[in-house]
Amino acid sequence: MTIDSLQFKDLDPGERLLMGPGPSNVPARVLQAMAAPCIGHLDARFLTYMDETQKLLRFLFQTENALTIPVSGTGSAGMETCFVNLVEPGDEVVVCVNGVFGTRMSDIVGRLGGKLTRVDAEWGRAVDPEAVRRAVRNGRPKVLAVVHAETSTGVRQPLDDLAAIARECGALFMVDTVTSLGGIEVALDRIGVDAAYSGTQKCISCPPGLAPVSFSSAAVQAMEKRKTPVVSWYLDMTMVRSYWGEERKYHHTAPINMTYGLREALRLIAEEGLDARFERHRLNHRALVAGLEAMGLAMLAPEAERLPMLNAVRVPEGADDLKVRQSLMRNWNIEIGGGLGALAGKIWRVGLMGHTSRRQSVYLFLSALETVLKAQGLSLRPDALDAAAAVYGST
Ligand SMILES: *Cc1c(COP(=O)(O)O)cnc(C)c1O
Repeated sequence: MTIDSLQFKDLDPGERLLMGPGPSNVPARVLQAMAAPCIGHLDARFLTYMDETQKLLRFLFQTENALTIPVSGTGSAGMETCFVNLVEPGDEVVVCVNGVFGTRMSDIVGRLGGKLTRVDAEWGRAVDPEAVRRAVRNGRPKVLAVVHAETSTGVRQPLDDLAAIARECGALFMVDTVTSLGGIEVALDRIGVDAAYSGTQKCISCPPGLAPVSFSSAAVQAMEKRKTPVVSWYLDMTMVRSYWGEERKYHHTAPINMTYGLREALRLIAEEGLDARFERHRLNHRALVAGLEAMGLAMLAPEAERLPMLNAVRVPEGADDLKVRQSLMRNWNIEIGGGLGALAGKIWRVGLMGHTSRRQSVYLFLSALETVLKAQGLSLRPDALDAAAAVYGST
């Protein structure tokens, strides 16, 4: 069999402003780091980069957890890693569900033969800790799991009360930090989180491909007490640990250049500082919301429950959801996300994650949306940019 190689042109994806639910824009320094030569996964130089990446991840997660590593795979691989290592058939697991990602967690628990208790909340609202307290009252859950930043709805879940409930009933507290890590505070040790997973392409602003995870000593003990082997060979932490730990025992080949990229993205975060980074996310979020509301648009979540990095805004009456998104892409090179599940066609998901969370993204998006909606015949108040500028305190 032959193939005409000329039919495949040079790669040219162009530049987009990535204001969807991820990936976010990747800084040039991260892309440059990824273009460094590939060396062996047991090369002493690479082992140093691994150690440094772990140190930087512990800083970002605000934890002393020894078992803090990037799993090879996207955020979903991190989700699966946490569940397959901590849940055995028959284990009671309580999952909070107020969007797509909580739903996925429950799906995984079912596949593992866990005894699932779902605590459901309206999509667009945080889960009420009292409902969780009622759900655990009569059981002995091994794990209580929740999504910190529900990317499908833009809702921020407060963690302190849920952590206290997990402590009281002796459950491990598992948190999805895929969208929160690097954008709002994720302080594992202070809050009392036992298992957390994340992804590289949201507020860390590295391409997708690695899933940072962290396990407390209580979680590691639970793994050591398992009666059955972990059903996934690839994601079994007892084996992966020996490669990232002192033994350096081969398990699978680490994604070398992805690790370079993550290390550089984390170095950028350390240079900026966590507080400055979170403040930047808050400020750009406030400016965006001020602009959208000045235009006459409404946010899905109540103010106190909104995430700064994922803004769910209601599609206004008279606008064509798909055509708006297509026009933003074609004419402005801006990607945003549509709604999922019951919220399909009802909301837009506007990301201000990591490197994308900048003043110019906010101004450009507001200008673009205003223009596109006007072209669809909507009459809008023309004050969006002024309202955003007022939040920044200058033009
Ligand atoms: C994106 C996301 C995931 C899944 O991550 P992938 O990298 O797409 O596999 C899981 N949970 C949340 C909250 C997310 O936003």
